[in-house]
Amino acid sequence: MNFDDTPQEATFRAEARKWIQANAPKELEQELSQAGTGRIRLREANLLEASKKWQKKKADAGWAALSWPKDYGGRGSTPIERVIWSQEEGVYSKLGAPFLIGQGMCGPTIMAFGTDDAKKKYLPPMASGEQIWCQLFSEPSGGSDVAGLRTRAERDGNDWIVNGQKIWTSGAHYSDYGILILRTDPNVPKHKGLTMFFLSMKSPGVEIRPIKQASGQSEFNEVYFTNVRIPDSQRLGNVGDGWNVSLTTLMNERFAIGSGVATGFPEIFEYCANLMTDDGLAIDNRAVRSKLASWAVKNSGLKYTSYRTISALSKGERPGPENSIGKLVSGSMMQDIAAFALDLQGASAVVADVDQGDAGGRFQTMLLRSPSARIAGGTDEIMRNIIAERVLGLPGDIRVDKDVPFNKIPTRGRA
Ligand SMILES: Cc1cc2nc3c(=O)[nH]c(=O)nc-3n(C[C@H](O)[C@H](O)[C@H](O)COP(=O)(O)OP(=O)(O)OC[C@H]3O[C@@H](n4cnc5c(N)ncnc54)[C@H](O)[C@@H]3O)c2cc1C
Repeated sequence: MNFDDTPQEATFRAEARKWIQANAPKELEQELSQAGTGRIRLREANLLEASKKWQKKKADAGWAALSWPKDYGGRGSTPIERVIWSQEEGVYSKLGAPFLIGQGMCGPTIMAFGTDDAKKKYLPPMASGEQIWCQLFSEPSGGSDVAGLRTRAERDGNDWIVNGQKIWTSGAHYSDYGILILRTDPNVPKHKGLTMFFLSMKSPGVEIRPIKQASGQSEFNEVYFTNVRIPDSQRLGNVGDGWNVSLTTLMNERFAIGSGVATGFPEIFEYCANLMTDDGLAIDNRAVRSKLASWAVKNSGLKYTSYRTISALSKGERPGPENSIGKLVSGSMMQDIAAFALDLQGASAVVADVDQGDAGGRFQTMLLRSPSARIAGGTDEIMRNIIAERVLGLPGDIRVDKDVPFNKIPTRGRA
């Protein structure tokens, strides 16, 4: 495949570059480019406010939620134009993090299953970043196996009454709305008794408890529901069809995560190229070079695998399982790279501080962050199952509870 821009793509790229150069918050460029994988803390500005400001500016000029229809606050761009935009947006794309779940997963789900009124009301402020959305799927007993979830919704006239708990909800603490999947019928097999809804995170009975992470940050939360009322008009899809609806969300999640994988390779290469040891520059050491060489090979593999995605997008196709490969390889690579950098730092590796730590503490943050990259959006094992079943055609995982009514599955808890 020819990876050069077509004439239309080149025009789009030039236009995007010109607008970004004229409008991007240049005062944040240096800090954003130095921000390690998984940690952005701005000294002078509040990150959420800076993110909202940049998103709104993009929306006002027609550069937000590019692939969405114009009526919903997007630009009606092709998927390949979306890729070009993110290449041009560069470090400023880090400001888009709070909107990824809304625009990458919730928006497409509302677009596919919401009423016309819901689409008109909720999609434009989601595109402009004025309203932030989160995804309430995972539960203590339903993570990889989302269909094992227990939070229930019971019908009461035109409302549903919700009780239970979600966990690992990224951004719930600053979100305005969320989409959530609930058990509406425990008498049928687990995939068949689920229904999808959306709700305001300010609804009475919603309690959000931030989870403190190893990094010291609190990016995700436990969310408790006590007799929360959701109007039936906020149902997405048919009653009992929540599993199918969630597949739309999850397919978009894998794509959103898989299309922009971070590995830590550019960071470790730059670090080794400049690190002076007792025996000279680290990059001149044979053992270091051997490690860098093997990561460089993997990095190239990831790059060309991601080109398959770009190539599929440019032909109007939906990317296939290559996103699972990218996620699987990049997560463990990032963890190895961070651990190796800390080995190189020796005793000073214990200092993780941005000002006093070696390399601004970026590898310490990367190490603390990397396990989550191997879990969020599908664990390594689930990625391997997908590759085994859908790429290699191996026999499927054994699923003994698939056809058993949910409330008859042996468990120590209650359905
Ligand atoms: C940074 C981060 C952000 C997140 N944000 C959100 C969010 O916004 N909203 C949300 O709903 N969730 C979110 N999650 C949750 C995430 O989707 C789940 O953590 C993930 O799906 C795994 O589920 P679990 O943690 O319950 O682990 P489990 O599913 O309990 O898995 C435990 C272990 O068993 C293995 N395992 C499970 N099933 C199989 C199998 N069939 N074959 C082989 N091995 C298996 C897993 O690989 C894992 O090692 C987030 C997680 C992280 C880390």
